[in-house]
Amino acid sequence: MNATDKIVPPAPIAVIGLGNMGVPMGACLVKAGYAVTGFDLSAAARERFVAAGGKSAASVAAAVGGAKVVITLLPNGKIVREAVDAVRPHLAPGAILIEMSSSAPLGTRKLGEELIAAGYGFIDAPVSGGVKRAVDGTLAIMVGGDSATIDRVDPVLAAMGRSIFRTGGLGSGHAMKALNNYVSAAGLVATVEALQVGRTFGLDPNLMADILNVSSGKNNTTEVKLKQYMISQSFNAGFPLRLMAKDVRTADDLAHGLGIATPLADLCAKLWDEAAENLAETADHTEILRYMERLKA
Ligand code: NAD
Repeated sequence: MNATDKIVPPAPIAVIGLGNMGVPMGACLVKAGYAVTGFDLSAAARERFVAAGGKSAASVAAAVGGAKVVITLLPNGKIVREAVDAVRPHLAPGAILIEMSSSAPLGTRKLGEELIAAGYGFIDAPVSGGVKRAVDGTLAIMVGGDSATIDRVDPVLAAMGRSIFRTGGLGSGHAMKALNNYVSAAGLVATVEALQVGRTFGLDPNLMADILNVSSGKNNTTEVKLKQYMISQSFNAGFPLRLMAKDVRTADDLAHGLGIATPLADLCAKLWDEAAENLAETADHTEILRYMERLKA
């Protein structure tokens, strides 16, 4: 393999982490013609990937052996670090790691630098768009790292996403992702507060949603979550609250690390952390409404 070759189908790819995102994103790679082997600690998750058309390996070593690209889609950067450390002795020479989880940018930068020094490729490429766009292969992908490495995996990323942005050096994709989710989480909380106040005053929640959506208060929550998952009380948007809390905390930690005052992010991170502590482990992020309804004035 030439160091400038593009990684095209049917190249072997390993996907570590077969959760809500790993299964559909891995299935998009299968559909594009890649030879995809998935691994997850959970046997049920491995079975879901096989049902979606992928192959699964019983050990992470077997999944990555021979893979030209190794994709991580794990809960957070700490788990990614542990998984990558465990897998390192089994990586094929010159393999490229694509860290697609939502992780803390400084940890990513350090991990990437270590792997690059050891002769591997490494980029961070977190995603936005949720499970539905993961299924459709139309995610937004924010890619940080060296452009020659990104060029080589362009076809891999294009199989999973539609809007692919190069954000700069290692960790910049993860910084952008955390900041995006902070803005999304803050908009969601503002919408919940407005809903509670309006409802108590006597406004109709559905009418509020209609007005917000043609007015300057419109945001992602008012457009695709308020009626669909919150007013309807279905609370099944598909993005767990614990992951949103992690992302907001990541953005707030980044601000602190850079010495930037972010009073709203401080409050927001605290609120999402408290909601995560008080709701079920499996709670959807839209269920923060339930937690906020319990708060005393
Ligand atoms: P998930 O919790 O559904 O899946 C994570 C999977 O990783 C689980 O199946 C778990 O068993 C597995 N796992 C944990 N530790 C492991 C290890 N050491 N080795 C192998 N497998 C391991 O999470 P998800 O929703 O798929 O999200 C994955 C990442 O993508 C997260 O970082 C999340 O923040 C991000 N993300 C999620 C969404 C979404 O809508 N769900 C959207 C954008 C980004």
